[in-house]
Amino acid sequence: MGNENSYGGSCFCGAVQFTVTGEPAAMGYCHCESCRRWSAGPVNAFTLWNPGAVRITRGAENIGTYNKSPHSYRKWCKTCGGHVFTEHPGMKLTDVYAAVIPELPFKAGVHVHYQETVLRVKDGVLKLKDMPKEMGGSGDSVAE
Ligand SMILES: [Zn+2]
Ligand SMILES: [Zn+2]
Repeated sequence: MGNENSYGGSCFCGAVQFTVTGEPAAMGYCHCESCRRWSAGPVNAFTLWNPGAVRITRGAENIGTYNKSPHSYRKWCKTCGGHVFTEHPGMKLTDVYAAVIPELPFKAGVHVHYQETVLRVKDGVLKLKDMPKEMGGSGDSVAE
């Protein structure tokens, strides 16, 4: 345990701070409409972690939660409104937005929900129509 990497993250204003420890289960970009509307951006860069790898070090009481569906509990800072992470209880994974953990070397392994994209990315990385099979999707890949 002791020699695992830890990466610090925070919301936009710094009231909420946290660390992620170890290596993410997956990293990539999500093109789904939910991510787009919640983030107010065309694509969401995600890093997925086992929930135990994410530790709130400051401002836990300052985190707001919204869940439109039981699949995603979206978390943000009540002071600045900055998004911090989303819990996916069904997948037993927490999506910590790559943008809020700048120290983590981000390397996309996959694009998911690419059938919904509004911003095509020609990076040569695998594009999945929806989600990987092991996460309940079709596992089908689509053209860039
Ligand atoms: Zn904040
Ligand atoms: Zn998404």
